[in-house]
Amino acid sequence: MNIVLMGLPGAGKGTQADKIIEKYDIPHISTGDMFRAAMKNGTELGLEAKSYIDKGALVPDEVTIGIVRERLAEPDCNQGFLLDGFPRTIEQAEALDQILADLGRKVEDVINIKVDQDELVKRLTGRRICKVCGSSYHLVFNPPKVEGVCDKDGGELYQRADDNLETVSNRLEVNIKQSQPLLDFYNKKQILTDIDGQKDINDVFADVDALLKSSRN
Ligand SMILES: [Zn+2]
Repeated sequence: MNIVLMGLPGAGKGTQADKIIEKYDIPHISTGDMFRAAMKNGTELGLEAKSYIDKGALVPDEVTIGIVRERLAEPDCNQGFLLDGFPRTIEQAEALDQILADLGRKVEDVINIKVDQDELVKRLTGRRICKVCGSSYHLVFNPPKVEGVCDKDGGELYQRADDNLETVSNRLEVNIKQSQPLLDFYNKKQILTDIDGQKDINDVFADVDALLKSSRN
């Protein structure tokens, strides 16, 4: 069960990832977690990655790919894995194919959680934070009892700069541009499936689950 999970920010990818790994008992492999583990374990590649991250620089592809290669060779990946946040480019996707070919395996399913851009903007700009206690609310999904006011302490709610319309729109544009070539790459291989991410969370998972079951038969 070798899965790549894709989806724009706000599509609910993290929630679906949690459900997939729980049901199928496979490791969730995200680049962030991998970097942190490699750095913590002080592997050669981990230290190299750290030197870039500490400078605020992008980790070069060969380092990232090396870390993925080490991670996928670990025994807990024998029954499968859920990759999240990797690959991000065609070059990385080709490197992943090579890594898996060396292990006698391949990517079996690429799941793309798909949500309209307007809906993503609504989801991503709705967050409000309490100035006093830092509690997080959402205008649509988890609104405070009184608009603009924290339920717990009456503190004023504000929107983080990261969550404003302009930042969110830019982030989505960048992500769309980056992910489209990858979606095309996997579509050509006929292993890409779009899943409607605008349904209720459990219904989205039911669709994911049905897909994973059918591609195993
Ligand atoms: Zn508060």
